[in-house]
Amino acid sequence: MSILVTGGAGYIGSHFVKTLKKNNFDVVVFDNLSRGHIESIPKDVAFENVDLLDYSALLQNLKKYKIDAVVHFAAFAFVGESVSDPKLYYINNVIGSINLLNALTRSGINKIVFSSTCSLYGNPLKVPISEDESIKPINPYAKTKHIIENVMSDFDTAYGLKYVALRYFNAAGCDFDGLIGESHQPEPHLIPIVISAALGKREGVSIYGADYPTPDGTCVRDYVHVYDLADAHLKALEYLNSGAKSDVFNLGTGDGNSVKEIIHAVEKISGKEIKSTTIERREGDPAILVADNKKAKEVLGWSPKYNLEDVIKSAWKWHNSQKY
Ligand code: UDP
Repeated sequence: MSILVTGGAGYIGSHFVKTLKKNNFDVVVFDNLSRGHIESIPKDVAFENVDLLDYSALLQNLKKYKIDAVVHFAAFAFVGESVSDPKLYYINNVIGSINLLNALTRSGINKIVFSSTCSLYGNPLKVPISEDESIKPINPYAKTKHIIENVMSDFDTAYGLKYVALRYFNAAGCDFDGLIGESHQPEPHLIPIVISAALGKREGVSIYGADYPTPDGTCVRDYVHVYDLADAHLKALEYLNSGAKSDVFNLGTGDGNSVKEIIHAVEKISGKEIKSTTIERREGDPAILVADNKKAKEVLGWSPKYNLEDVIKSAWKWHNSQKY
């Protein structure tokens, strides 16, 4: 079976490409390398430097391969940046994805797994969060993902496109071989920031608010290992191949950890003391985001295998090997 992975040079995409190779799939990666890393793509994987905004290049490159299904990661994914520069997000994530969906329809490809996000739920009314929670995106990034979920639903009705939207909680951790990992410039995510503080590459960590209604006052998130996410994409492909209907699934472990717990976990695994200072809250941060993952377990047969220790140990190993 031949799978097209858009954004296969990015953080989650590159871990998924490695998972596909391990499972003997034929893989083609389309990536414009604007934020991805070419060295994250295995040498024996077909790669095309394609920008989804270039519709004719996209169609031309699709014609070169016999593709059975697509897994679409290519997108910008920083909440803060989406607030300060929304046009980047509406152009890249919305127009790019619509070009892709359009090109797939024209090429007779009718299966897609889409990277979506738990930030669609905004400030949830109920935690753990199930797929029945109301959709209230509160930043442009989440809005772009919501738009594309809706477009896919309309394409299903009109053209028979079958899709699975996977709503990730906090993707975290790295390759256990230490070969690929999470590298963003600048890095907005908590775990890489805490690790770089442990490595002495930054002064310390700013905790964005310690007055939330949580046990220690800091925000609680559901950190799910990137290889558990990769495995869910494989299960989603199997699901679509079985002829099942289009659907959406939350992907998280079902457990939450606070910012302070993450700092302590990194201190324990690294053996280093980490300086932290509490500053004001970051705008738009809900107190607690934890997944109800029952639906993914029951329908996709997915179950996360890795815990917080696996997340931090794998991330620590990879960041230690980096020369930045
Ligand atoms: N966070 C923090 N300090 C930082 C970066 C993040 O306190 O330097 C907090 C942030 O407020 C959130 C959690 O860590 O509650 C996870 O943030 P991240 O940006 O990693 O992921 P998000 O939950 O925004 O997708």
